[in-house]
Amino acid sequence: MLPLSVLKKAASELTQYGDSGMSVMEMSHRSKIYGEIFAKVKASLRRVLNVPETHEIIFMQGGATAQFAAVPLNLLGDRDSADYALTGVFSTNAYNEAKKYCSPRAVFSGEAEGFRRIPNQEELQLSDRAAYFHICSNNTIYGTAWNYVPETGSVPLVADMSSEILSRPVDFSRYGLVYAGVQKNMAPAGMAVVIVDKALIGKELPITPTIMSYAKFIKADSMLNTPPTYTIYMLGLVLDWVSDHGGLHGMNALRRERSDMLYDYLDSSSLFKPVAEVSSRSMMNVTFRTGSEELDAKFVKEAAAEGLVNLKGHRLAGGMRASIYNAMPVEGVYKLVDFMKKFERENR
Ligand SMILES: *Cc1c(COP(=O)(O)O)cnc(C)c1O
Repeated sequence: MLPLSVLKKAASELTQYGDSGMSVMEMSHRSKIYGEIFAKVKASLRRVLNVPETHEIIFMQGGATAQFAAVPLNLLGDRDSADYALTGVFSTNAYNEAKKYCSPRAVFSGEAEGFRRIPNQEELQLSDRAAYFHICSNNTIYGTAWNYVPETGSVPLVADMSSEILSRPVDFSRYGLVYAGVQKNMAPAGMAVVIVDKALIGKELPITPTIMSYAKFIKADSMLNTPPTYTIYMLGLVLDWVSDHGGLHGMNALRRERSDMLYDYLDSSSLFKPVAEVSSRSMMNVTFRTGSEELDAKFVKEAAAEGLVNLKGHRLAGGMRASIYNAMPVEGVYKLVDFMKKFERENR
């Protein structure tokens, strides 16, 4: 979801931005007017996320999936290994992609347990020979999240935050690199945001494609080639909306309110069961099931008829999933819980 006010603002400027005589979509990315939009969005992202000066912000195309390759290509340096925690589909995909460039180690796999939980610190046997330790901070499909920042010693921590960035304050000084595809919680599809510690630049493998080089993107201020100009403009509108709604502390309070409402009900329900282990629960993607595939399907269908859409779980996870990103109004969750209670009464 995108906030309705953001879509309306974009609509009001769709054919003409300011008195420029053209749409943002029609501007040259090298023009003065677009340069001003770009600089403002980047500064606004740094301010809203509170990114320290030690870290660079890069806009890259290819979504989060391109980063599965870009991370090892740019960070391996003289190391031939990196550590990965496999907590779901995307972290496993990142691990498999890294195999093309090094011999990554899976230091944890939740697969046998159906990816229901996140490992605790004691379970992580990290190597100090690893180029980095990669985690997926919020597991979109299975509805789990790292509710702590793992200690990694001298090894840089890398996190895929695609499905939770902009939903809570993050201390970026604890991360070597954070990346996120923008389409879950930031903007329409079309790019990834990369926040990287400048100290990690200079370790790229010689085979790194130019279009994936952090060093080259930083040098060109993300304008190595044509960036997704309209997506960046939309990100600016979303950032204004976040600022107007209490910034990241405001977003964090809202996500807590939304997810508490759902989990409180799930914990008391005799029909629906939450999937994720309590200490590993995500506040962005709430997964649950009835225990019967037939009843799950009936629920998804009847919910859709009430305007409660996109509740079917990912094909790999089954069951149901409520994705409650920033733009989801609290009332939407209230309506969902109300409907679940009614469904429970009718199908007991
Ligand atoms: C959606 C998602 C991805 C894939 O994003 P793309 O931008 O489509 O490549 C990767 N990681 C996480 C955590 C996601 O939620």
